[in-house]
Order: sequence, then C-alpha cells, then structure tokens
Amino acid sequence: MLSTMQDVPLTITRIMQHGTTVHGASEVVTWTGAEPRRTTYAEVGRRTAQLAHALRELGVDGDQRVATFLWNNQEHLECYLAVPSMGAVLHTLNLRLPGDQLIYIANHAEDKILIVDGSLVPLFAPALPALKTIEHVIVTGDADLAPLEGKGKQVHRYDELIAGRPTEFPWAEDIDERSASAMCYTSGTTGNPKGVVYSHRSTYLHSMQVCMVEGFGLGTADIVLPVVPMFHVNAWGLPYAAMLSGASILMPDRFLQPEPLAAMIAAEKPTMAAAVPTIWTGLLDHLDATKTDVSSLREVIVGGSACPPALMEAFEARHGVRIIHAWGMTETSPLGTVARPPAGVTGPDEMAYRVTQGRLPASVQARLVGPDGSVMPHDGTSVGELEVRGPWIAGGYIGGETGSDSVEGDRFHDGWLRTGDVGTLTPDGFLTLTDRAKDVIKSGGEWISSVDLENQLMAHPDVAEATVVGVPDERWGERPLAMVVLRAGADTGLEQLKAFMAERVARWMVPERWSLVEAVPKTSVGKFDKKLIRKQYGDDALD
Ligand code: ADP
Repeated sequence: MLSTMQDVPLTITRIMQHGTTVHGASEVVTWTGAEPRRTTYAEVGRRTAQLAHALRELGVDGDQRVATFLWNNQEHLECYLAVPSMGAVLHTLNLRLPGDQLIYIANHAEDKILIVDGSLVPLFAPALPALKTIEHVIVTGDADLAPLEGKGKQVHRYDELIAGRPTEFPWAEDIDERSASAMCYTSGTTGNPKGVVYSHRSTYLHSMQVCMVEGFGLGTADIVLPVVPMFHVNAWGLPYAAMLSGASILMPDRFLQPEPLAAMIAAEKPTMAAAVPTIWTGLLDHLDATKTDVSSLREVIVGGSACPPALMEAFEARHGVRIIHAWGMTETSPLGTVARPPAGVTGPDEMAYRVTQGRLPASVQARLVGPDGSVMPHDGTSVGELEVRGPWIAGGYIGGETGSDSVEGDRFHDGWLRTGDVGTLTPDGFLTLTDRAKDVIKSGGEWISSVDLENQLMAHPDVAEATVVGVPDERWGERPLAMVVLRAGADTGLEQLKAFMAERVARWMVPERWSLVEAVPKTSVGKFDKKLIRKQYGDDALD
C-alpha cells in the first residue's frame, strides 16, 4: 500500500526559499579586515535570483557545472544557493590545490563557468588556459582582470553581471531530489582526487541532521562561523544548515590566521564555529597570549583529523569554550558522528565520551570489518575497518571510479562505503578511531596507533604541534617518527620528550626517530600531511 502523503521533493531550492524569506532578517557578515560587509538573508535571496538570471543568460539551463574558486564569503553563499536551485551543479574548487590537480579536477568535472575571488586572480590565472571546458570566468570584487584576458574565455565582473537583473527567479518546482546539486573532490590525501556528487535529497537530509541537537544543534539565536572552507565538504554543511535553521553566518573570507580570527570572534560574537584541529591549535596560542574574549562561542566543532584531548581541555579550562569532536569525510557529506555524551554523564566520565570520534545518527549505519572480511561485534574493543551507509553517504565516484587506490580493493562494496579508517564501535554507537588504515604503524607485527602517540605528545605543555608517521625500519618493518613543533621559548629537549612519552605509552612504542621543525607540513585542507612527511623521510632521511 502506498502512503497518502504528498510527495514533495527535498531540494536546496526549498532550503534557499525558506532561509531567504522566513529567516530573511538573519544576517550574513563577511570579514574584510576593515569594516565588515553586512547583509541579510533576504538581500542574499534577491542577489541569488539575480545571479541565477545572469547564469541562465550565460547558458546554464541544465546540469552544467558551475565552479567556484572562492573564500568563505557572501558571494560564495549566493553561489551555493543559486546554482543548485536553478538545477545546475555547484563545484567547489579547493583553492589550495597545486595547479596540476586543480586543472585535472576542473577538466574532469567539465566545469563550464568559473566564479573566482578577485583576490585569487593572480594565483588562478596561470591555470586558466588549461581549463578546457570553461567558457566564462566571473570575478568578484574589483580586481585587475588583465591576467585573465586573451586566454580564450569570456571574463565578467560579478557585481556588474548581476546588477539590474530581476530580484525574483522562476525557480523550477520539479527538480528531481535525486539529481546532482553539488560536487566536491576528495583532497587527495590518500590518492588521486575523486569526485563525490551530492544530491538535493542527500543535502537536505544532511542539513536537517546538522541542525539537530545531537548534530551541531543550530537555531535562530546562533551566529555560525564556518572557518572550515566552503570548498572542504561544503563547509561541513553549515551554510545550508544555517539557512534551514535561521542561524546568522559570520564569513571569515581569507582571514584565517589566529589574529583576525580572534578579532572577528571578539567583535561579532559568533556562538559556534567549526574547523580542523590545526586552526584551533594556532588560535589557542594567540588567545593565551592576548586573553581575547571568545566566550560568545558556546561550542566549537572540531573534525577532519583526530582532536587532541589536550586541545579540548585547554580551550575549556583557559577560554571557557567547549570543543565538540566530530568525524566525517568528503564521501559522507561529511557528518558521520558527533561526540555528545549520553544524558546524565558528567564529570570525568564525560570526557571519555567527548574524546571519541562520536556517536552515530540514525541515518549513518556503520559496521566494522576485520582483515578476513568478517563483520566484528560492536563491543568497544574489537577493531576493524569502518564501513558506513546511509542517505548522505556516497555510493560511488563520478565517472564510476572505484577509488581502488585508496584502500585495498574498491572503496565500495555490498552497498557500503569503506572509509579506510580503523577503530572500534560501542553497543551504544560511539566510534573510536585508532587510525587511518594507511597511517597505522606496523612495528614487528604489532600495531601502533599514530593518533594515540600524537595525542600523548600534544599533552606536553611545550609541544605546539606533533604528528607521528610510520617509516621503514630494517629490523621492525616500520617504526614511528615523531615530528614536533615546540612552543616559542620552550627549552625541552628530545630526551625529556622521550621520557615524557615513556611514562604514557608502552616503552616499545616510544619513537626513537624525532624531527624538531618550525611547522608540520599541512594538506590543502589544513591536516598534517603524513604522505608528504613519509615521502620526505624516504628522500632526505630526516632523522
Ligand atoms: P581527505 O581524505 O582527502 O583527507 P577528507 O576531508 O574527506 O579528505 O578526509 C576524511 C578523513 O579524515 C577520514 O576518513 C578520517 O581519516 C579523517 N578524519 C576526519 N575526522 C576525523 C576525526 N574526528 N578523527 C580522526 N580522523 C578524522
């Protein structure tokens, strides 16, 4: 028997229409380094319609890909809304990728239109001739367009292009909710970039989960600061979730260093923010030194890599900000798990839950698979590779690629996504990752969790940043190499660090190879670049 319910598609168009009308008074503030740019969701809605008219005139009348090469700002939000709502596909390009990867991705996605941040024209211009399918380049702000001219593409200014156009658009009512709304390539930490294509439906459902109390808990009273770039898995879904819930948005634009971040938090008083751990590590030092008031933040979401417990404790104890740990990936939209303790758990017991990667929501089903392919129990101790499935989890990559370079065999099988992450699950749905399969250190037949060693090292008061990778060793197969950045003025030596570790982990796990550096190399989304560190070690024998 079929239900008697209306079959109304779940679309981004609906999120956009709701946000820009019902929550029309909510604000979008873009940090500029000087006077911030302020507008309302209602005005963004009008400009979204104007942008849609302009794109239609440039030939966007189907599922053409419209790429963005933008910081987190008002214009990027307008692209987030206009492109999917008119039935086209938004492709957020990672502006920190090396030129060859950028070219590969834009050509692979067959991008037709590219919307570029004025401040990025010099960075982007050299790649333009190699972007075969791009016909139009639209530049925000008042940048010098000369570097883009004469390269076989039509160049437009964003504001001029949308100016004077109607502020309403005949949005289609019949978009298939399963059709593509946006695409994002994995950042290639573990292989070639692969394209994940989100649907209207997956984004709608994901946005609802982000808003839920057990997700990021957004409401109209919130001001959200997505430090995580809008090219890194849709800023973890925050822009759409904000539109859905009516939360205002504070956009950091290109001001992602500790000083401007602290200044914008103090001035604009966001209630929640989200970014990878390395951002918060840098901000912590700055806050400690300047004592900037960031107490408007009721929560900070940290994910993308394991959040060191020491970072959580420091933010809470010294700045009154609660860090919430979350796990996800490009293929999971990205919300996978969020670490909120069960009701009634307080005090030291609470921390034991908060340092896990988090708890599964209903729409993310998970299982652990052992090396022999058997499904392991969710008993909190059995370790296996995490596989997930659900309505906002990728079931494949664009072009039918399998991702077989990422883990052994294909990334997808039996309707499940193999995450490449290894860990445990408790009966009540809490996930603890010991490592990425590729990062586990296999020393003399025993496994060492690089994440565990990193967390212990980061607990040393003189350690600003630490990462641990496995490097080849004649006797043991692999041994850990610890790369450490000491805090300014610290005089801790290697012997003291080794002694510190020997008190915390089994002696055979204590690294004998160390590298003291000014900064740990980072990936294009700000994670420790373990692939590069391992390669450099092979090339230069770092120890
Ligand atoms: P890339 O794979 O290119 O780094 P993603 O941002 O999609 O791009 O990364 C997803 C991966 O990041 C996950 O598979 C996992 O290994 C890691 N990750 C994300 N969140 C966490 C977390 N909270 N703890 C540990 N690892 C995490």
